[in-house]
Amino acid sequence: MKSEDLFNEAKKYLPGGVDSPVRAFKPYPFFAECASGSHLKDVDGKDYIDYCLAYGPLVLGHSHPDIVKKVKEQLELGTAYGVPTQNEIELAKLVTGRVPCADMVRFVNSGTEATMSAIRLARAVTGRKKIVKFEGSYHGAHDYVLVKSGSGAMGLPDSPGVPEETTKNTILIPFNDIEAVEDLIREEGEEIATIIVEPVMGNVGCIPPREGYLEFLRQITSENGIILIFDEVITGFRLAEGGAQEYYGVTPDLVTFGKILGGGFPIGAISGKREYMEKVAPQGDVYQAGTFNGNPISITAGLITLKLLDRNFYTQLEKKGQYLRKGIGDILEEQDLDYKVAGLSSMFQIYFTGKDVYDYQDAKTADTEKFDKYFHKLLEKGVFIPPSQFECCFISLKHSEDDLEHTLEAVGEALKG
Ligand SMILES: *Cc1c(COP(=O)(O)O)cnc(C)c1O
Repeated sequence: MKSEDLFNEAKKYLPGGVDSPVRAFKPYPFFAECASGSHLKDVDGKDYIDYCLAYGPLVLGHSHPDIVKKVKEQLELGTAYGVPTQNEIELAKLVTGRVPCADMVRFVNSGTEATMSAIRLARAVTGRKKIVKFEGSYHGAHDYVLVKSGSGAMGLPDSPGVPEETTKNTILIPFNDIEAVEDLIREEGEEIATIIVEPVMGNVGCIPPREGYLEFLRQITSENGIILIFDEVITGFRLAEGGAQEYYGVTPDLVTFGKILGGGFPIGAISGKREYMEKVAPQGDVYQAGTFNGNPISITAGLITLKLLDRNFYTQLEKKGQYLRKGIGDILEEQDLDYKVAGLSSMFQIYFTGKDVYDYQDAKTADTEKFDKYFHKLLEKGVFIPPSQFECCFISLKHSEDDLEHTLEAVGEALKG
């Protein structure tokens, strides 16, 4: 069956034909047949260079042979135990050894669970209710953080089914804006439990922090007894061995992980300073639990993945990223387009706007119809990027020079329209 038919069939059984909304691009998404390295094949026989990479986890490309091998071995040994394993200690050691703020770890199953539990922990240790997030930041699909619309609007949920009572303690402010944070803390600093931030915003394209901004957040939260959470579900193990906190040299109180940490399998993690992590049950009384927490398959895949992510890996990835961003920048100049190439390390995106993008409002000035055309042209030419202007494209270790060359050619033609 072809993708179009499968999609029509899928719509009868799965809401919108998919299991996560962004996947349902128009007119119909291609259905995956198989994938390897930097390439993804669909059931229609078409082959794509993949820059979506499952929305982030696959920094080593699809089905890395070392991961496949170890996971196969683990499959034979058992897929879930409900009792602890040695590998959980090994993975926790790798995480705490690399990530500056990490003294202890709780493994969960998704980034969503990780931020939900980190926020609970922050509220518990401060005894305060309010949480602050940035407009356009994404911390998963749970009720407390599903608020991003409206400039400065407080407590208005993005989805029906999220009661205002649940989000009335969620305060939204613009990213990269020092004054907005200062004003807020002056007014209600003593009620704020946590500021949760994606150190590089990766869910409205790609927006790095302005110089000194993360340092500022670190200082003002420390001064006001507010827990600083870095949501490193994207940046963790991507920007550097120790994630964005190593890359920018700013150490938060708590950090959340997901995506890369599971080596292509479902995972999430909450980590941070010992004094806070000791409050997590059963050592402390802040409840957190999960049937599949520390799942041996995900833990094994994560363990192999982190072992493969050494200094040399990050240097190589950075080179590929720079090459691609420079190439795209050159194309934009040649074609006299004033769109912006955003990104760093293995992250990139083109913003279809002439504005420099520092926050959500800037990002929203992008022409999404132009992006749409660009996306579909790329797809025609065998290059798959996430189907939204407000997602980020990723590069893996397996993207070859040929892949990158072919991609730049395709980008050049796609931008011509
Ligand atoms: C993807 C993502 C999440 C949610 O992770 P899931 O595993 O999809 O639940 C949370 N925060 C950030 C920054 C993310 O990019």
